[in-house]
Amino acid sequence: MRTRFAPSPTGYLHLGHAYSAMLAHGRARAAGGAFLIRIEDTDRARCRPQFEAAIFEDLAWLGLDWDEVPLRQSDHPDRYRGALDRLIAMDLCYPCRCTRADIRAALAAPQEGVASGPAYPDTCRGRPMATQGPDDAIRLDMARALARLGPARPGFTETGPDHAGRHRIDPDRLIADPGDIVLARKDIGAGSYHLAVVVDDAEQRITEVVRGADLFAATFLHRLLQDLLGLPAPGYHHHRLIRDAAGKRLAKRDDARAIRRYRAEGATPADIRRMIGLT
Ligand code: GLU
Repeated sequence: MRTRFAPSPTGYLHLGHAYSAMLAHGRARAAGGAFLIRIEDTDRARCRPQFEAAIFEDLAWLGLDWDEVPLRQSDHPDRYRGALDRLIAMDLCYPCRCTRADIRAALAAPQEGVASGPAYPDTCRGRPMATQGPDDAIRLDMARALARLGPARPGFTETGPDHAGRHRIDPDRLIADPGDIVLARKDIGAGSYHLAVVVDDAEQRITEVVRGADLFAATFLHRLLQDLLGLPAPGYHHHRLIRDAAGKRLAKRDDARAIRRYRAEGATPADIRRMIGLT
């Protein structure tokens, strides 16, 4: 059993991260498996070295130990580029020059039907890769990608509390949401989250992905990318989310919930465990 904790250094870890890391660590240790760290920092504009340093410090303070050298995504741009090039060679990608505002405007046009329409209007779909401009993003042509799948649609096993069981890709759902996802952007290169996460779960030989329930829906997309790239399929364990008193999901900008804030106020790691219901 090999699992991982994969934070992005865009802020201080909060109670939700503590829960995710402690749960993954506990599951790994209970199974005599490995607990790995991955720093997901391909979005350079949002990541800061001091947040990365703080991640390791907070994890150590929580009493967690990890195996192997942590993987930092910004050290391996070629790996994601290689995966992207494979998808391009399979003729599953197209360059896209639409801005967020263009997409909003197209989706708001009455004939597009916002509620049930595709996540991306087909403005650039079908453009040959040879027409890619320096500012263009690269999108996955979801319908073409799904057409490559055989009759046995790829599936995954979920062991988390909400959706335990076996799940299979549903092509109609993936076309509606998320549709033609962005695989590379001018500013983050080929390291978009969805591409980097499947490449690195394979690279780190992860057998069980432990992460928040907010990423359950993305798992269908991840299984598709794994299948297209010939990568192994791990099992998944999506855990409940830690919410604030108002029931809102915690975000890194909620500094009030930062682990180091509680630490500064004298909390112990055992107090943190109690707060997140891991006693
Ligand atoms: N880097 C993601 C985050 O901080 C986690 C991705 C994952 O666990 O797959 O939310």
